[in-house]
Amino acid sequence: MDESGIWEEVLKYLRKEISEQEVKVWLEPMSVAELRGDLITLSAPNKFYKKWAEDRYLPQIKKVFKENLAVEADVSITVGAEKRQTQTESNSVPSGTVVQQPKNGNNLNREYIFENFVAGSSNEFAYSACQAVSEGQFMQYNPLFIYGGVGLGKTHMMQAVGNRILEKFPKMKVLYCTSETFTNEMINAIRMKKMDEFQNKYRNIDLILFDDVQFLSGKQRSTEEFFNTFNALYDNQKQIIITSDKTPAEIPEMEDRLKSRFSWGLIADIQPPSVEEKTAILIKRAEFMGLPMPQEVAFFMAENLVTENIRELIGALVRLSAFSSFHKRKVTIDLARQALEKFLVKKDRVVTSENIIDAVCSYFNVKLTDMKSKKRTKSISMPRQVAMYLLREKLNLSLQEVGSMFGGRDHSTVLHAVNSVADKYKESREVQLIITTIERELYS
Ligand code: ADP
Ligand code: MG
Repeated sequence: MDESGIWEEVLKYLRKEISEQEVKVWLEPMSVAELRGDLITLSAPNKFYKKWAEDRYLPQIKKVFKENLAVEADVSITVGAEKRQTQTESNSVPSGTVVQQPKNGNNLNREYIFENFVAGSSNEFAYSACQAVSEGQFMQYNPLFIYGGVGLGKTHMMQAVGNRILEKFPKMKVLYCTSETFTNEMINAIRMKKMDEFQNKYRNIDLILFDDVQFLSGKQRSTEEFFNTFNALYDNQKQIIITSDKTPAEIPEMEDRLKSRFSWGLIADIQPPSVEEKTAILIKRAEFMGLPMPQEVAFFMAENLVTENIRELIGALVRLSAFSSFHKRKVTIDLARQALEKFLVKKDRVVTSENIIDAVCSYFNVKLTDMKSKKRTKSISMPRQVAMYLLREKLNLSLQEVGSMFGGRDHSTVLHAVNSVADKYKESREVQLIITTIERELYS
């Protein structure tokens, strides 16, 4: 495997303990030179880096290899060649983890393309709309508003449109930005008295990819500016693609006039991937990384990793890859089980009704006696309904059995509760998050 994927993964964990600035200055320029038997060799650009890293970061680096990548080894640092060129510069085969790339004006990451994106029933609606826009059919879905949970491929999909458009129509002006960059640039422009320049930049494009619009929420001035940008682009028949982790209606503290514009075109959702889709994504990504990955291992991971987040799924794959090259062992289910032990659902763990009720009580911070009582305030009835749903889903208890656990409620009450949570689970990201968090608590 390409070892830069491994180093990226290590950095991800180091960032939790070391400041971003230190990581940027001292750690990003390093790379994994070799993984061999019981030794990991890191390469530093020169002896100052080597010394500095040895003095300050070595124990933490070792710890990450051991605890997060399941690779227990000695780590040494040598002075090697400068860090390999990044993918954009060299156009080499991309690694497992997508590397943030230098800015080239449009801010697109060239690894986010359709060719390495897996389409399936969870994202097909958004996917086909993106394909249509990529054909250059602007204004058909304008704006195209894509929403879905974290790590489900929104950024990848929207950037794939940008990359495809540039491939087909190299003269078009494409701009990818996040709420954050938009806001920061605006603040700078105000400070430097360069608002004209800012407005020119954002209004003089053919396709804008505006990522994570929910972060504009509560920011009045940025929202105002975005509203004006939106209108200018729309009036000039330019294409607008927006992503968010919520539907327009669910975004708090945002003006209705902007939200209503989001519904002028098409609103498309991305749902969490099914086991089959996860398997396909793992296989495709492994191929991309040059890691031989038997189908049954991909399926095993898809079925047993406790996550719906594709970013985490890929993180697990990088971990497996590191483990495999380090131990010089082929990828098998057994190896995956060892490498990913901490992240797997413990199927043999027996979950009882007490476990479920405890987990729900502690998630919502409510008392068991309240759940059993007649209280019907939302703060009690919601946890109660979630508990009923989980008891049915996980343990297959009868409606009567579930009812009897909550102060003898009758079966129709339980049925209503279970159906209501099941319906919300399909539609509301918030409810999905509640359920998956409790499940994680139960099974890991
Ligand atoms: P989001 O923006 O929704 O949080 P990202 O687009 O950043 O998610 O995706 C997270 C990671 O998962 C990225 O590395 C992306 O390439 C990968 N990914 C997401 N969805 C897919 C998919 N359907 N096929 C292949 N890779 C995917
Ligand atoms: Mg994103």
